[in-house]
Amino acid sequence: MGDLEELLQKFAQYAPHADAGLLQKAYLFSQKAHAHQNRASGEHYFSHCLAVGEILVDFKLDLPTLAAALLHDVLEDTEVTGETMEKEFGPEITQLVQGVTKVARLPPGSWGDLQETPEPHLIPQAENWRKMLLATAKDIRVILIKLADRLHNMRTLCYLDHDKQRRIAQETLSLYAPLAQRLGMFQLKSELEDLAFEVLEPQRHKELVSAVQVRHADRQKSLESFRCALEAGLAPSGIPYRMLARPKNYYSLWGKMKRQKKPFEEIQDTLGVRLITDTIANCYALLGLVHTLFKPMAGTFTDYLAIPKANLYQSLHTTVLSPSGDPVEIQLRTEQMHRTAEYGIAAHWRYKTPTLEEKDLHLEEKLNWLRQWIEWLQDLKSPREFLESLQTDLELYQVFVFTPKGEVKPLPAGSTPVDFAYAVHTDIGHTCYGAKVSGKMVKLDTPLKSGEICEILTRKRGKPNKDWLNFARTARARSKIRRYFREHPH
Ligand code: MN
Repeated sequence: MGDLEELLQKFAQYAPHADAGLLQKAYLFSQKAHAHQNRASGEHYFSHCLAVGEILVDFKLDLPTLAAALLHDVLEDTEVTGETMEKEFGPEITQLVQGVTKVARLPPGSWGDLQETPEPHLIPQAENWRKMLLATAKDIRVILIKLADRLHNMRTLCYLDHDKQRRIAQETLSLYAPLAQRLGMFQLKSELEDLAFEVLEPQRHKELVSAVQVRHADRQKSLESFRCALEAGLAPSGIPYRMLARPKNYYSLWGKMKRQKKPFEEIQDTLGVRLITDTIANCYALLGLVHTLFKPMAGTFTDYLAIPKANLYQSLHTTVLSPSGDPVEIQLRTEQMHRTAEYGIAAHWRYKTPTLEEKDLHLEEKLNWLRQWIEWLQDLKSPREFLESLQTDLELYQVFVFTPKGEVKPLPAGSTPVDFAYAVHTDIGHTCYGAKVSGKMVKLDTPLKSGEICEILTRKRGKPNKDWLNFARTARARSKIRRYFREHPH
C-alpha cells in the first residue's frame, strides 16, 4: 500500500465524514513543491513532511492540522508563496503553515537596538520562538505541528554533523520537551528527552539502557507475582479496571540519579503499574483496597487528583511492598485522565465520538494557561531574558503555594513572595510591601516551598520596586514590573 493510501485510510478510520480530498491535495502539492530537494539522509525531502503528518494522524487530529503538517516546510524551503498557498488551501491552513515557518530576516528593531545587544547569537533563536508563540496565540495547533516536526527531526538526527546534533538536542531538552510536558503530551515529551539524552550523553545512555534491561529481567518474575496477587485481591470488589505497564523514560531516571546523587543501583521504584478505572470515586476505592492488600511505604502517597500539577496531570500515586519485598509504584486514574495524560492539549482537536468521550474541563484550563503565558512573554524586551523566562516558566519542578483562603498557585521552584503576589493579581503585586509565610514575616526574596501558606501585605498607594527584578522568577511578575516602570518612568 502506498504512503498516501495509508495516511488516508488512517484518517478515514476516525473521521469518515471529513473531506479526505483536501488531504490528498496537500500531499501531492507538497510532494511536488519539494520534488528536487533531499534530506541529509539522502531521502526525498517530502518523506519528512509525510512523517510529520503521520505523527499527527496517530494523535487523531483534525483535517486543517494534518494538511498544514504535510505543507509545513513549503513556505520556508520552496518557491511557493503564501499567496499561492492561500489560493489553493484557504487562510486557515496557510496561517498554520506561516506559524511554523522560521523568520527569514529579522524585523528591524525587534529586540530594541540590536547594536547594544550583548549576545547577538541568541537573537535568531529567540526571534523564532517568539514568532512561533505569537502564531500559537492565534492558533494553538501551530505548536502541535512544531512538536511533531521536532520529534521527526530528533528521530533522524544521526545524519547531521556532531555539533549540529548537540545544538539541536540541547534546544530540544531545554525548550521543546518541557513545553510538551506543560501541554500534557507526556509520551511525546519522553521520546524527545530520550532521543536528546542519547545524543548528549551517549555513554551514560547506553549504560542506563542496559542496566534497566538487566534489572527488569531480574524483576519480571517478582512483578508478575505481584500482578497476580493484585488481580486476585481486587476481583471480589467488582470495581472495573484495567492494568497497564508503565512506560520507561531513561532521561527522567538519569535526572533522578543526579538529583539524589545516587547510582542506579540505589534508585528505587523502577517497578510500576497503572490502574485505569471509570470514576474518581473508584480511584479512591481501588487505592483503599491496594493499601489493605499490600503494605504502603511511608511518605510515598501523592494525591494529584485533589491538587493537580501545573500541567494538570491527574493521578493517585502510591508505593507498596510486593510479597517478594520489592517496592512497586501504583498510579490510579480514570479513563478520561488517562486520555488527557496521553494526548494533552492535542485532545482538544481530536475527532470525538460524542457518546464515548465526555468533555475534559481541565483541557480548557490548560489552553487558558498557554494563552496567558504567551501574552506575558510578549512583554519581554531582550532575547536572553525571553529565553530565560521561557525556560523558567517551563520548569518541571513546581512548588504549590496556598493563599490564606486555600487557593493553590503553582509556581516554578525558587519563586518568591513577589512572584506569588503577581500570580494572585497584578494589583496585589504592585502594592505589596511584605509577606508572611505560615504566619511569620519573611523577606520578599525568600524562595517559597510547597504547602506553604503565603499572605501578601499590601499598602494602598504601594509601588513596585526595581530591585524585585533581581529575584522575581516568573515571566508574569517580571513583565508586570517592567511594564509598570515603562508606564511610570519617574
Ligand atoms: Mn520540518
